[in-house]
Amino acid sequence: MFDETRCDRCGDCLVRCLYVDYDKERAAFEIDELIAGRPAPILSACITCFACNEYCPTDARPFDLILERQEQFGSLGIAPEMVAAEEARYAVTSEVRVPENQGRVLSACVFSSSDAELFEGRLFEGLPMVKGRHFFCYILFDHLGAGSVTRRHAQTFVDNLAATGAEEVILFHDDCYGMLVDRAPQFGINVPFRPVHVIEYLRRYLEAHRQDITPLGLRIAYQRPCASRMSPGKEDAIDAVLGLIGVERVQRRYDRENCLCCALAAVTFNPQQAPAIRQRNLDDALGAGAQAMCYLCPMCRIGLSDDARDRGLAGYHIIELARMALGELPVPA
Ligand code: SF4
Ligand code: SF4
Repeated sequence: MFDETRCDRCGDCLVRCLYVDYDKERAAFEIDELIAGRPAPILSACITCFACNEYCPTDARPFDLILERQEQFGSLGIAPEMVAAEEARYAVTSEVRVPENQGRVLSACVFSSSDAELFEGRLFEGLPMVKGRHFFCYILFDHLGAGSVTRRHAQTFVDNLAATGAEEVILFHDDCYGMLVDRAPQFGINVPFRPVHVIEYLRRYLEAHRQDITPLGLRIAYQRPCASRMSPGKEDAIDAVLGLIGVERVQRRYDRENCLCCALAAVTFNPQQAPAIRQRNLDDALGAGAQAMCYLCPMCRIGLSDDARDRGLAGYHIIELARMALGELPVPA
């Protein structure tokens, strides 16, 4: 939730926005307009990347204000019927079912089938999994300018995970982790278990099995997901995992705090701009000497992989790279 008392209207958040070209004066004007409840132009220029929440030095959460106004004014031009149809796609009528566990479960969100290969092998062996729409976090709707949908389902999402009785829940999807460590506390929702990001789980596993790792010697451009804006503290774990498996994260302009969105959601509401964002991202990756793209979010992989492949860049999920280093998947030539 935007905290007006923390905002000094400096405009820095929107000066840093990678999708508009505002100077400080213009950015401050936009913030003033939003606070006053008016439909400022940033609302339709915004591609919902969450970055301004990370940029704000006083943690005023400007994206939360933008999201609220986008929904208020329908700024992204997405028909309410389309949002409702998308929400209905994730509806569940059945009771939540949870597996027996020893205090720890893995949540695969809705990716257990589409990304089945990532869950195979030794990494997650013996770890009970929950999956499917009961465990979908709805952060997607923030990307559609419909934050009230995300909020409406947040408590149920937490309750369904809590129903496992596990003390520790490992989250495969960056969105789900962000919901638990960032959004849920903002909504005043108590999370009665410890959320652990899959990258932290991976780090622990690889550190305990160093002797089984063959370094890959690959240079990758890391695609930092928008959801990582909600949990920037885990960047160390990303670096640690890549280091453990002998993969170099190339230094490039659009990484870390300066990362670009994969533009998958923008295809829905800004189809003209989306290809240009992807091109900017891949130009940067290639210019930095990357041999491949590395993804943490399966949706980023969907969003970027076609264009990347057309430009000669292979793409791997970070779990896939870990499995290669453990000898479970073939290493690219
Ligand atoms: S939200 Fe933060 S960065 Fe943006 S104008 Fe307010 S204080 Fe400055
Ligand atoms: S969410 Fe991203 S695109 Fe939207 S205003 Fe903030 S930084 Fe810019």
